[in-house]
Amino acid sequence: MLRVEKVGKAFGRHQVLREVSLDVHAGQVLCVIGPSGSGKSTLLRCVNRLEVPDSGYVYLEGQPVGFRWKGDGLHEMTSSQLAAQRRRMGMVFQNFHLFPHRRVVDNVTEGPVVVNGLDRGTAREQAMELLTKVGLADKAGAFPESLSGGQQQRVAIARSLAMRPALMLFDEPTSALDPELVGDVLDVMRDLARDGMTMVVVTHEMAFARDVADQVVFMDGGRVVEAGPPERIFGAPEHERTRSFLSRVL
Ligand code: ATP
Ligand code: MG
Repeated sequence: MLRVEKVGKAFGRHQVLREVSLDVHAGQVLCVIGPSGSGKSTLLRCVNRLEVPDSGYVYLEGQPVGFRWKGDGLHEMTSSQLAAQRRRMGMVFQNFHLFPHRRVVDNVTEGPVVVNGLDRGTAREQAMELLTKVGLADKAGAFPESLSGGQQQRVAIARSLAMRPALMLFDEPTSALDPELVGDVLDVMRDLARDGMTMVVVTHEMAFARDVADQVVFMDGGRVVEAGPPERIFGAPEHERTRSFLSRVL
């Protein structure tokens, strides 16, 4: 479903990603853990090409992200082709970025109506289903500012899902939340995983990674230091750097 192949990225002289490779199969959850500054967000941004990698490729559903095969080889996509490919990937950030002047339900219908040309009635029905799924059907008519951070984040997830992505990317979706609000958001993500959504989740929630991930990747200094099933990464890490990171966060 998703393959990252030897992706490198530097900002000026600072090499932030070094030959990062990973594979996520359809229906799998990959959790990325690692210290601050290790390149986790940059990796996600390279996946959906918010950042352009300096080297390497990302493949989504077998297609190189940002490139098209044409005659003599790979050519860079037009921006509208890239926009269409990007819509296959939902992204949820630490800060929810809802439209503040739109009601909750309109936040969720906006993309399908404006971008996909879905009729309002169908979009609304679909939005209500998604809001039910994230436990917020009763807030459909509310404005974002009247919701808690955890509720806003769940709306942000519903809004992403409304675009029917093939893959969901999460960048520390709970780290801006008060501790008592984290659980509801993680429960929604857990349900999504159970429903078979393919997910890449950058997180500091080690219990979530341990329970939900099929694969955990530990990054440090722009490199994948270690990757494997959660039982092995948490139970028997091979690398000293992984051990010392885990001993600080667990
Ligand atoms: P955190 O856990 O704090 O979110 P991270 O693992 O997500 O960290 P990144 O945000 O990917 O780390 O950043 C990796 C490094 O790249 C950091 O040193 C950061 O300062 C640098 N960096 C990220 N984006 C840019 C940018 N646009 N321009 C210059 N440097 C950047
Ligand atoms: Mg980050």
